Amino acid sequence: MTRKACVHNLGCKVNAYESQAMQQLLTGAGYEIVPFAPGADVYVINTCSVTNIADRKSRQMLHKAKKMNPDAVVVAAGCYVQTGSEKLIEDGTVDLILGNNRKQNIVEALDEFYRSRTPSADIIEINRTKEYENLSINGDSDRARAFVKVQDGCNQFCTYCIIPYARGRVRSRTPEDVLEEIKVLVSAGYKEIVLTGIHLSSYGVDFADRKERLLDLIKMTAEIPGVMRIRLGSLEPGIITEQFAAELSKIPQICPHFHLSLQSGCDATLERMNRRYRTKEYAEKCEILRRYFDRPALTTDIITGFPGETEEEFEASYRFVSDIRFFETHVFPYSRRKGTKADRMDGQLPEHVKKERSNRLLKLDSERRKEYASSFIGCEAEVLIEEEVTCEGQRMLTGHSKEYLNMLIPFTKSVAPGDIVKVRALRFAQDLHCNLVGTII
Ligand code: SF4
Repeated sequence: MTRKACVHNLGCKVNAYESQAMQQLLTGAGYEIVPFAPGADVYVINTCSVTNIADRKSRQMLHKAKKMNPDAVVVAAGCYVQTGSEKLIEDGTVDLILGNNRKQNIVEALDEFYRSRTPSADIIEINRTKEYENLSINGDSDRARAFVKVQDGCNQFCTYCIIPYARGRVRSRTPEDVLEEIKVLVSAGYKEIVLTGIHLSSYGVDFADRKERLLDLIKMTAEIPGVMRIRLGSLEPGIITEQFAAELSKIPQICPHFHLSLQSGCDATLERMNRRYRTKEYAEKCEILRRYFDRPALTTDIITGFPGETEEEFEASYRFVSDIRFFETHVFPYSRRKGTKADRMDGQLPEHVKKERSNRLLKLDSERRKEYASSFIGCEAEVLIEEEVTCEGQRMLTGHSKEYLNMLIPFTKSVAPGDIVKVRALRFAQDLHCNLVGTII
């Protein structure tokens, strides 16, 4: 009898990649993959632990899975396992616990469970390992864009972040392994490769006997026939140098879309966050990118209401964000995370203050998105078509430009998802905020 399994993902793009990899391992072992609904024999929850709320959500999903089928095997995998294993073991809902660096053993762990019917936990001391977990995907889902994980862990210890404790130190995947996976993805039809990791800028710093760093990996990726676009996951400002930007700008497939994590536009707050740059340096990095790329899409993350953030500090942060003129700002009200330094800091702010500051930044973000997108009206853009949608009452095709602008074109049979077409942007769509409608040229 074929067993039915579902893998439910919580959290970031790296987790999503690992969920896809586990799903493929299960398929390879003969499991039928089913949606997260009643009726499965195995529920794998790939948990997240970035905030206290993420922990709670992880626990809720595990309980929900057990409720869906009390006879099913419930597997807790990933970050919450690393930070909350005691609670998980105590709780008793979960049959198998697989920590980070152990997801590759999902099939063997299930085999063992079916043999012995004994719950087990496989958790390593993630802070002590130097090993990169060998997971890979072959991309059998029907998307145009493939995320490729190239690195795990982080050495930065920002005061609000639990990630270094949940995912351990920087571990990079060998270029050979990365390139092998990209070749498989390209032959499966993927045109765009997104290089991603927990701290992508640190790619290669842990290699003992080899010299490749992120720029080398990007160059090698660009040499693979069929790679039409390369997009980069979140970068630390420190990696952007004149030379880095100059070299990058010579690679035709590079998408001029750079996510430079900022978190606060106030130096005093950055200091308390233990971020390694200050606003002056950050602004210089943005200038460098703008010198080497035409209207690059600069995006960022901001935390509002970090402990001790005064009204003046927030105003400084707001002004800085406004002056940089980002394409997109992802705004997060500060969320306490047990086990971090920031959680123990004085000056924790009430939720309504965090919310009010977030709302101000979200309003600014919405204006800036519109401003950036409108600068492309009348211009040509190369769009990777992703899917068919209904917009303004008609069939349309949608996809993203290299800058990650969402574009719509009238439906035509001659274009299919996965195609790259040249489009002239004509106007904003009526019912979708900031999407542009264009025509094929
Ligand atoms: S750089 Fe800072 S925020 Fe990012 S994963 Fe590392 S510790 Fe967390």
